[in-house]
Amino acid sequence: MLATINLPRILRVGAGASRQLVATLAELGLTRPLLVTDPFIKSCGYCERLQTPLDAAGIAYGLFSDCVPDPTTDSVYAALAVLRDRDYDCVVALGGGSSLDTAKAVAVLARHGGLMRDYKVPRQVDSGLPIIAIPTTAGTGSEATRVAVITDTQTHEKMLCMGLGLMPVAALVDFELTLTMPWRLTADTGIDSLCHALEAYVSRKANPFTDSIALTAMRTIYQNIRTACAEPDNRQAREAMMLAATQGGIAFANASVTLIHGMSRPIGALFHVPHGLSNAMLLPEVTAWSVDHAPARYAYCARYMGVATDADSDEIGCAKLVDALRELLVDLQVPGPQAYGIARNDWFDSLQLMAEQALASGSPANNPRIPLAQDIVQLYERIW
Ligand code: NAD
Repeated sequence: MLATINLPRILRVGAGASRQLVATLAELGLTRPLLVTDPFIKSCGYCERLQTPLDAAGIAYGLFSDCVPDPTTDSVYAALAVLRDRDYDCVVALGGGSSLDTAKAVAVLARHGGLMRDYKVPRQVDSGLPIIAIPTTAGTGSEATRVAVITDTQTHEKMLCMGLGLMPVAALVDFELTLTMPWRLTADTGIDSLCHALEAYVSRKANPFTDSIALTAMRTIYQNIRTACAEPDNRQAREAMMLAATQGGIAFANASVTLIHGMSRPIGALFHVPHGLSNAMLLPEVTAWSVDHAPARYAYCARYMGVATDADSDEIGCAKLVDALRELLVDLQVPGPQAYGIARNDWFDSLQLMAEQALASGSPANNPRIPLAQDIVQLYERIW
């Protein structure tokens, strides 16, 4: 199998990486950045961490700070209007996946025009303004993916958009920016990363390059997520989680996500469940439904994460993996859709539409066990 791997041109990883923005711009020959972030990140001082050195270097920049969680086409168009106001030569995204994806969408629309829905898969968009990504969650891995997820304000579809135009040219991966993440956000974004790693490893598009990165990422996340939640100031756990999140992004962007993400996006779009949380709701049940179609791969994950031993058969390894994921959800207090507050009628009335949207994203076709629409409906019923 021939694997094609896409990565940012520059990855700076470690404490203080975000303070290297001026040097990174200079290295890339960029001089007129638009900073893209959300209101919380602007208010908590992280934005200043970028602005002070930019001011000191005499670099004139613009600021859009109205990104919204699970970015909508409306919010993307608002950011685009700010970008078109002046002659910016790049976008600098600071925040969680929502700010990063907003900036990516703007970078592509600035170059090519049109509407965001013109860029949803299967279209691949190959160019855009240069993007520098600075994540503050650990995380979506968006800093290292050629992916943006934007919700269409009119249809409520959470659209998957892909292509090299959405790949950041540089990523500054600084775990110090995650020390303020509250417990719930740490848990949800950490499970998002765990799903990236696990899905990349069992994906039909998995390859030897992504396998090793995915395995390392899943073990690191499994071994550190509870500590990162319980001890928010634990720098070692935060650093481990941040690196693993970027690795999870690299793994899934080059091997694809599968059924969990495919089913998760419609839940987010229709019921406004945070992305990591909707993944978490699905993780054990979708894994249990899939293991029989790639038992050796899933059992290897269990051994690598330390929840099964070399002495365990693949069958036992798979069972231990599912048990460990169920336990993790209990420890991380992940609610089901019902406990989250979704009304029963709304959930059951939407199952067919959610199944259609999941299949249309293409992600379920990468799963070891490929579902029909009725299988997806049954899985949604099961997690209710
Ligand atoms: P987010 O960006 O939606 O942020 C959620 C909340 O956390 C916001 O209120 C934000 O202000 C706050 N926050 C961010 N960093 C913080 C910090 N350090 N301390 C305290 N609060 C902080 O969250 P997310 O989970 O990172 O991103 C989710 C989005 O990313 C979804 O839209 C999802 O579909 C998308 N996504 C994209 C990719 C990709 O490759 N492009 C991959 C996975 C997910």
